[in-house]
Amino acid sequence: MQHTHDPQAAPLPGWSTPDRDFPGVQAHPPGELSRGAVLDVGLKCPHSCAFCYYSYYDGGPGQFTGVRKASMRPTSECLDIVRAIAGNGLTHLDITGGEPTVHPGLPQIVAEAAAKGLAVRCITLGQYLMRVREGHRLLDTLLENGLTDILFSLHAADATAFQETCGGSLDAVLSAMDALDSRGFQYACNTVIMERNRRDLPRIARLAVSRGVYAINFIAFNAYHAWRGQEQAAALEAPYTKIRPFLEEAVAILDAGGVAVNIRYVPLCAFPALARHVVGVLGVAYDPFEWRNRCLNHDKPAAYCAEPLPIPDSGIRPVYAFTRLEATSLDGSALCGMRGAQFKLFPAQCAGCPARGACDGVDPVYLSRHGAGEFAPLQEAVQGPLLASRLRYGPPFLVKTRPTADMRGAMAACLAKSNSEVR
Ligand code: SF4
Ligand code: SF4
Repeated sequence: MQHTHDPQAAPLPGWSTPDRDFPGVQAHPPGELSRGAVLDVGLKCPHSCAFCYYSYYDGGPGQFTGVRKASMRPTSECLDIVRAIAGNGLTHLDITGGEPTVHPGLPQIVAEAAAKGLAVRCITLGQYLMRVREGHRLLDTLLENGLTDILFSLHAADATAFQETCGGSLDAVLSAMDALDSRGFQYACNTVIMERNRRDLPRIARLAVSRGVYAINFIAFNAYHAWRGQEQAAALEAPYTKIRPFLEEAVAILDAGGVAVNIRYVPLCAFPALARHVVGVLGVAYDPFEWRNRCLNHDKPAAYCAEPLPIPDSGIRPVYAFTRLEATSLDGSALCGMRGAQFKLFPAQCAGCPARGACDGVDPVYLSRHGAGEFAPLQEAVQGPLLASRLRYGPPFLVKTRPTADMRGAMAACLAKSNSEVR
């Protein structure tokens, strides 16, 4: 595998040994490539998330027909991938789907990952964790088998909105969180930001702080994959300026509560006051929980699925390289460049932006719908594909390696240090 040390890597600001102060908390050196991996157990899923990127995945008119009919990867193949991931020197594993808790082999897969020394996290909507299977509650079985962490999907803060957004029960999630809280097991959340929940972001933040959430990833809905060209996508996607006040309030609540915040897949100037939280496709390989190997290759052998993808010394994969472009976008905005083959576009004002080297640019569909008026040069220094302020923001670089690690305590201590250094 590629050597993972980046020459810009530095110890966590002011704190090199969190594992001594907070057992089970490791500091990932900011600027160093992630050593995280993913096992995708198959796309089968009983849920109905409005934003699902596997919507229409079978090519038919039913949004969820594809994920209902999808198969699960056999347990034996999953175990082979887990062993290959561990053999490649990766240190922590996300298990995802579809919905991985409906995979019958999940307890065995978790046990194998733990036995191989991987910190193992399950990504779930949390609907089946409290269900009893063969006389045992699934959550208890997974914890007994060595599960280190859980990443819940939390897209709403009240039962009705949760049900309308994903077809599930918020009570089921909160029951699982209660059970984890009683054991001192902390966990993280993903929240997809959509038009329907942007005003609720502060409520979601308060709910997270009131539970054992130690990190939250706010993921802006982008019209990727099957959503390209779908008119329904327009109703899901909110303009950044309309998200901004609610997201700023949510982040202030989470900062005060000692919860790490990541904001994914937006231009760096989308939320200027929150720039240290923003990571796009360029910087994501440096976030310690992110995946270095391939996902969604159900027909490929274990060695292919477990192989870490190479990242060049520049930190930017050729597929995301910047190229100058003299053209106009569909909305008539003048452009100055693009990443990849128009994967993202740069409006004219980006030409003089000091942060451009670390910025994804603007999604072409977003630009055609909302125009370029929201974007303005960000006066921030860049180191490789990351903002310098991101590298100084400590909490996202703390990694959970034991089930009962006090991540919140470590986050709060680290955040206090990070904030004192920028004053
Ligand atoms: S849980 Fe995941 S796969 Fe299932 S509907 Fe929601 S987003 Fe799609
Ligand atoms: S002005 Fe352009 S390059 Fe600079 S942060 Fe905004 S979108 Fe990115």
